[in-house]
Amino acid sequence: MAAYSSSSGLEVLLSSLQNAGDADSMLNILNVLDELLSAGTDRRIKNMISKGASEALLTALVNTGGRSSPDYTVLLPLLHLLAKVGHRDRRIGVKAEDAGAVLLTLNLLKQNIKHARRAAACLWVIQVFSSSVSTANLIGQNNGLDVIYYLIPPYTTTHLHTIKAGIDTLAALLRTKANVCAVVSKGFICGLLQLYEDWHSKDTGHLAIGIRLALLRCLHKATRNTGARQTFITHGGIRILYQTTHKCLLSKGLESLVELSVQLMRKCLPKTPLPLTSDQSVYSFPLPGRPQDTPDNDAAADESWEESDDEMAEGDQEEDNKDKDFDDDLETDLKNLCFRPDPDKPKGLLAGYSQLCPELSHNFQELDLSSEPEESSTASSSDEEALLFNTFPSHPIRKERMRSNARSESSLSSSWSKSENPTEGHAAATEDLEGCDFHGNTNILSSSPNIWTKGRETGGKPCPGCNGDEQDNEEEGEHNSHHHTIVDRLLEKHGTLIPNHEPKLYRAAAIQTKSIPGFNILAFPDFWGHLSPPGHEPMAPRKPHIQRQKVFEDVQRFLNPDDIINQVVFDLEDNSPQCLSERTSDSLRFFSKFECGNLRKAIQVRRYEYDLILNADVNCSQHTQWFYFEVSNMEANVPYRFNVINCEKSNSQFNYGMQPVLYSVKEALDGRPHWVRSGTEICYFRNKFCSAQGRKRTTFYTMTFTVTFKHIEDVCYLAYHYPYTYSAMTAHLEVLQKSVDPAKVFFRQQTLCNSLAGNACPLITITACPVSRGWKDMHQLRNRPCIVLTARVHPSESNASWVMKGTLEFLCSSDPVAASLREAFVFKIIPMLNPDGVINGTHRCDLNREDLNRQWSKPDPVLSPTIYHTKGLLHYLNSVGRTPLVFCDYHGHSRKKNVFLYGCSVKETLWQSGSTVDTVGLKEDPGYRTIPKALDRIAPTFSFNSCNYLVEKSRSATARVVVWREMGVLRSYTMETSYNGCNQGIYKGLQIGTREMDEMGVNFCHSLLSVAKDVTEVYSKKLINHITLDHNVIDHNSHNCFDDDEPPCVEEIEYSTDYPGLTVTELDSDVDANTTRKDDEEEEDGHKGVKHPQARFRHSTIKTHMFPQLINQGSIEKKNTCNGVSNTNGQFMN
Ligand SMILES: [Zn+2]
Repeated sequence: MAAYSSSSGLEVLLSSLQNAGDADSMLNILNVLDELLSAGTDRRIKNMISKGASEALLTALVNTGGRSSPDYTVLLPLLHLLAKVGHRDRRIGVKAEDAGAVLLTLNLLKQNIKHARRAAACLWVIQVFSSSVSTANLIGQNNGLDVIYYLIPPYTTTHLHTIKAGIDTLAALLRTKANVCAVVSKGFICGLLQLYEDWHSKDTGHLAIGIRLALLRCLHKATRNTGARQTFITHGGIRILYQTTHKCLLSKGLESLVELSVQLMRKCLPKTPLPLTSDQSVYSFPLPGRPQDTPDNDAAADESWEESDDEMAEGDQEEDNKDKDFDDDLETDLKNLCFRPDPDKPKGLLAGYSQLCPELSHNFQELDLSSEPEESSTASSSDEEALLFNTFPSHPIRKERMRSNARSESSLSSSWSKSENPTEGHAAATEDLEGCDFHGNTNILSSSPNIWTKGRETGGKPCPGCNGDEQDNEEEGEHNSHHHTIVDRLLEKHGTLIPNHEPKLYRAAAIQTKSIPGFNILAFPDFWGHLSPPGHEPMAPRKPHIQRQKVFEDVQRFLNPDDIINQVVFDLEDNSPQCLSERTSDSLRFFSKFECGNLRKAIQVRRYEYDLILNADVNCSQHTQWFYFEVSNMEANVPYRFNVINCEKSNSQFNYGMQPVLYSVKEALDGRPHWVRSGTEICYFRNKFCSAQGRKRTTFYTMTFTVTFKHIEDVCYLAYHYPYTYSAMTAHLEVLQKSVDPAKVFFRQQTLCNSLAGNACPLITITACPVSRGWKDMHQLRNRPCIVLTARVHPSESNASWVMKGTLEFLCSSDPVAASLREAFVFKIIPMLNPDGVINGTHRCDLNREDLNRQWSKPDPVLSPTIYHTKGLLHYLNSVGRTPLVFCDYHGHSRKKNVFLYGCSVKETLWQSGSTVDTVGLKEDPGYRTIPKALDRIAPTFSFNSCNYLVEKSRSATARVVVWREMGVLRSYTMETSYNGCNQGIYKGLQIGTREMDEMGVNFCHSLLSVAKDVTEVYSKKLINHITLDHNVIDHNSHNCFDDDEPPCVEEIEYSTDYPGLTVTELDSDVDANTTRKDDEEEEDGHKGVKHPQARFRHSTIKTHMFPQLINQGSIEKKNTCNGVSNTNGQFMN
């Protein structure tokens, strides 16, 4: 055997197979090849195929099978071997067509329908040939579908192998649109359903599960287009499957049947438009320079797809992707990978940004009062200045900058930013507590209902859920004072000490916040504050078969529509004086008109079940993921099922242990002000809904979860993740500013610019005050490298804000590490790049319906001001030789676990892309790995293996890539924090809470020590041009960072709409079983080899009607003349 395995031996073998004349030598060769195959690894089999094994076998088949009376002692093993080899050869279909073997095999089948073994062998080969679309179509055009379909009999106990081979082959042929259409028009779908029902009802001993599975798989393939699914429904497919499945659930060991049936029902349920008047967001915002009602034109683009067989196209695409060894998205053009400063940036415009470096111009006069000047600093003030500014390139705006300093530092709003952006700036936040309020069952909070609720003078309409009393100013004053006392009393009575949170400050901040709907209600948790609950929160265990159970419940809605309540209990668009939910007293009440809130509609479906629809991003008809709403009027200790029915992503961490978060007002007032991970029976799956405007191609997913409320008449809040509002950030910054010791910590809050809606985008500068005003200390201060951190460009990624909160608090703290970091660096922090998105509860975009993290290449100064000015600031730093040492943009990740970084590396990108660019001469500073390596050691949530440093074309306009490429920042990162939890380290199996996020923010700061050590040296090189062409090769150990994909879900059926054909092993074992069987030997029982004592007996009694369903000869003979062979009998044997 060893001799044959060498390629030359194999070639000899294959060539003699094609030329061998006598049966014995052919059999010998086939035997040897079969042994090679069964003993061989996949690699050896691939090698055989590359040496022409398929072609040789096909030639042998044509030679042997083409004879008038073929020798089946040779032909049968030949077909068996061809099935095995062909199953592993992706091009077998094309090769078979070229060899003329396709129709020949079909004819052999037609000739042998009486011979179970021979027929099975032909079926397997046809099945394997059908892997090519054109081959499958060729077989379909030549009556292959009819021949095979009519081989499938109603329930029997014999020839199960052959029957299964027939069904599997029919399924394989249904990979093409033409064959699916043919099957629908021939009425085979109805027939297959009847066959399934028949096998199901008569196979009481469950001996033919394989056949039943094969029939379901075949139905799956047959229902790949809309018409086919319609036919399926018309013939009662859903009801048949529902009933059969119900019976299957009563027996053990039928899991696979149940799974497939449920999946099939889910797929075939008719598409239902979402119950909305329009997909367009309820919130719209007029964009400057654009007509007000520019429709979201993705709708028009979509229409052309409406009639297409969406799911089939999807399946085909998946197959194509398997062919690709390398990621097409990786950037391989060296020009795009190298440092490339933006040549367009007019230097003059940058001057204004000097004001955003107050640490450079501040004179620290206050130091003279508290500390002695150092002996060394003898230079006069003007000398000092000259020396200081000599460290920078000479700059024409220097004096202007010096003059404007006092102004620029004054408050939240700078005159400069106002001139850049004409939108009105902020008035300074006041302590004046205006009528911001809570909503809901106010009797929890006080005995005088509705005192909390009223309109706010900023133009907000009265809330639909409240009493709706309009007050004049006088009354408002009264209410305010009354209100204040209640707030005070409550805070006094229940207020807990939440570090760095002051409810009154929060309220004051919220009053300044500008939202599109004019929110005038505060969500209680944001006002009251959140404290991490004690202990850790493990990921939720997934209940076995949870998806099956949920889909089954959804199918019941279709079958028994009369059981469904279908009552709208909340509608964001409903502005009637009373909330819809208040009309029905025993249903839950919902509310979402508050900062970061997102719930568009709630529909009561069953007594304790609600469908929830999320609002699309502002000015958009898409992007739904984030939710945050209030719920009240609940019963205690009753499980309520909630279904968010318009999710868009194809998978979610909700399938892998993640839970939404819940906040109970009663619990908070009891001293437990916690957002807690909550919900059971959580599951995320594709549903039957399509967009409201009937675009059938849109696909939605359901995120379902069940909550059992602890208290009756509580007010609870549910959210996708721990909410963190814009007002929370501004209040937090105020608290931090007050907390620092101004003699030690230089903390400045400025406005980078205003957002489109006129909310300030704060920029924070944190560094250490110099020890003295002496030249040496001031020189050190002015030469500290910058570290620029940004967060929350994506509004739903509230985890980014919690991590940033940890970073900010640490940097302001008295921790010695924080102190040395302040001495080593100047931190420039923009904690919220997308204020408007955050405020209005969007998921992905800004008001201009763009993903701001795709705007970095050419940010529009009017439409994407925060990105434009962040980039401007970076350009400015770059232009004065203060290119940031580190840039990091904080994000949240919905599909992976842990915390990890994305960075940029030329070499790793080229290697991973399989690019032919010669990287030998490319020298790259490996310093981009320093921080991830440090984090790997110190941060428990961090996973080094999840990091990668690849530059993708699709990410070329993200902060990370642009800052790296255009500013030459070697350490430019995106930091991703999972919404879920960790699957490694000491937090393995736990969800990430705010405590862990806070800790991550701290640890990120700690990791910066790793780059602080050799700062002076590194910085003197100015970091520009991080790659140089050189002949030294830097050794990178690992660049394979892609092996961290999600483990498969416990139930793998979830998303596929299609079923793969037989696996290699399944086909092999079927074929092998056929080989060992005597030609006309009868099978005794189920194909899995389960022995049944009654089998033989039953067989003998049923024998006479083994194949009562005759082949429809008429229809076959029409086209059956292809090779002059005709089908005369539809039975395998008599
Ligand atoms: Zn993001």
